[in-house]
Amino acid sequence: MIVDLRSDTVTRPTPAMLAAMTSADVGDDVYGEDPSVNALEAEAAELFGKEAAVFTPTGSMANQIGLQLLVPPGEELLCDVRSHVVNYEMGAAAALSGISTRTWAAPNGRLDVALIEPIINPPHPYSTTTRAIAVENTHNIGGGTVQPIEELRALRALADAQGLGLHLDGARIWNAHAATGVPLSEYGALFDTVSVCLSKGLGAPVGSLLITDAERAQRARVIRKRLGGGMRQAGFLAAAGRYALANNIERLAEDHARAQHLARSLEPFGICDASQVETNIVLLRLPDIAQVARAAAEQGVKISVLGPDWGRMLTHLDVDDAGIEHAVKVLGDLAG
Ligand SMILES: *Cc1c(COP(=O)(O)O)cnc(C)c1O
Repeated sequence: MIVDLRSDTVTRPTPAMLAAMTSADVGDDVYGEDPSVNALEAEAAELFGKEAAVFTPTGSMANQIGLQLLVPPGEELLCDVRSHVVNYEMGAAAALSGISTRTWAAPNGRLDVALIEPIINPPHPYSTTTRAIAVENTHNIGGGTVQPIEELRALRALADAQGLGLHLDGARIWNAHAATGVPLSEYGALFDTVSVCLSKGLGAPVGSLLITDAERAQRARVIRKRLGGGMRQAGFLAAAGRYALANNIERLAEDHARAQHLARSLEPFGICDASQVETNIVLLRLPDIAQVARAAAEQGVKISVLGPDWGRMLTHLDVDDAGIEHAVKVLGDLAG
């Protein structure tokens, strides 16, 4: 048995999703003529209560388009020190958009407006001007942390008062929605630009979206083409995304329950803290985790190593209860 807990990106399309893909109506999306892409973009915009959405090959591209829309070259983005946009996108904001970045450090990645307000730089003769703030929800490296809705509202009020843009890295906003019941449209209302991934917990093989207002979406299409993200008969991929939106959001609660069970079962070995598990991500803390990961992989259990003494496990569509039991046995034996 192989149980791949490294990421929720490893899922493969189910027969039903594949059937939706192979029967998709397609056209040339660079001409705006792919009916399946157009339908996906309209459905996603509607879910978030926004005017428009732009289909992208990856979440990184959706994030970078959002940031470029909000921050001019030589000006500044603020984000959490462990955020995806500044750690895992190969320096794209600087390399491709000339964006300067400054970070705040939040425990577990949890948003705390009190940490951000003091570091905002208003326009000034010799300091870099802050133009936008990026928030990750759920927070990946923080351990699937859900951002409190009151804190997000407070951040919007601060951004409005200071004339700043707000970008949501919502690669896993679906998990935040499933965990809290906060409507996606409420998240949408608080941000100027929102990126979402279809290829993580929702189980599509490829695809993300940048969701925003109509005017920014038009500019987003130009930036996407410039980045090489203009796709042609992308409707085959959009059909997987449409299937995912229609069928795979509500079931994320199952992934969250399995992550809880996994963490509670491993807690007695002192390698994780179930009280910190809010969604589908379980952080592991144990010495020489690389050695444990190698030994676990030999028994079919794959985990992510993030540092010398910590790592990560994610539950997703392709992990069932038997897989969790197998992972608990293998990791418990290695840790015990
Ligand atoms: C996965 C992820 C992304 C996008 O990743 P891609 O591999 O480029 O699709 C963005 N933000 C977060 C927090 C992620 O976990």
